[in-house]
Amino acid sequence: MKLISIACATAFLSSTSAYNVPSPKPAASSRRVALKTFTAGLTAALLPATANAYTLPDLPYAYDALEPYIDAPTMKFHHDKHHNTYLTNINKATEGKPQVNIVDLQTNALEANPIRNSGGGHYNHAFFWDEMEAHDKAKNTAPSTALAAAISKSFGDLDAMKEKWAAAAAPGAVFGSGWVWLVLAANDELHIVGTPNQDNPLMKGVLKDGVAFPILGLDVWEHAYYLNYQNRRPDYVTAWWNVVNWDKVNENYEYVLKNHKGVPVRGN
Ligand code: MN
Repeated sequence: MKLISIACATAFLSSTSAYNVPSPKPAASSRRVALKTFTAGLTAALLPATANAYTLPDLPYAYDALEPYIDAPTMKFHHDKHHNTYLTNINKATEGKPQVNIVDLQTNALEANPIRNSGGGHYNHAFFWDEMEAHDKAKNTAPSTALAAAISKSFGDLDAMKEKWAAAAAPGAVFGSGWVWLVLAANDELHIVGTPNQDNPLMKGVLKDGVAFPILGLDVWEHAYYLNYQNRRPDYVTAWWNVVNWDKVNENYEYVLKNHKGVPVRGN
């Protein structure tokens, strides 16, 4: 499978200066709550239902859980601002249309840019959060016997796979913004592939050999690492292995091997 390198402008820390820890909202009085509930009910009764309401899944850990490998301000921005923007835009783009599971939405995403960029962005980030875990927990996880065997078959061993991964994640391979993926390809073998922007291997037309099913993915957009690593993307890529939750990757591997479908994510 061929690595895809596409030059593209990088959304370089567009929201850095807007970083703020939100202050807690004051508690509403019971009367205000009652009025709000009534108004919400009235609105729901008058307006057509919004069919597509994808949601922002909470991080399954605290913002600072992945430190020192990924810093809390980066996690907060990345989840609350960047992911949330993809979410808002995919909800806008699909409003009033029949609800399609976010995994299934990926298949024909190249036919419509809002789906490709925002639907891809929502799926990719929801996938990404759940494959990570605090180092204290992550360090006690490892590839299952089945996954380790598949890694050996495709790459030699885990270290050799990480070397290939580092090469695929390097700025020369994914130029600008994009992702690196460990995928199950049609022949049931593992491959490492890079995709530009918010494309992913589930989208028909992104990989030249057809769709493939991600079991691990790494965001190499600058917004994913720049606050802590600046131009040192390779250092971020190396550090990130410390927070990979292999229990989840094993689960993903079992799922795609059995179903030949994209892994479901939270946020539908
Ligand atoms: Mn991102």
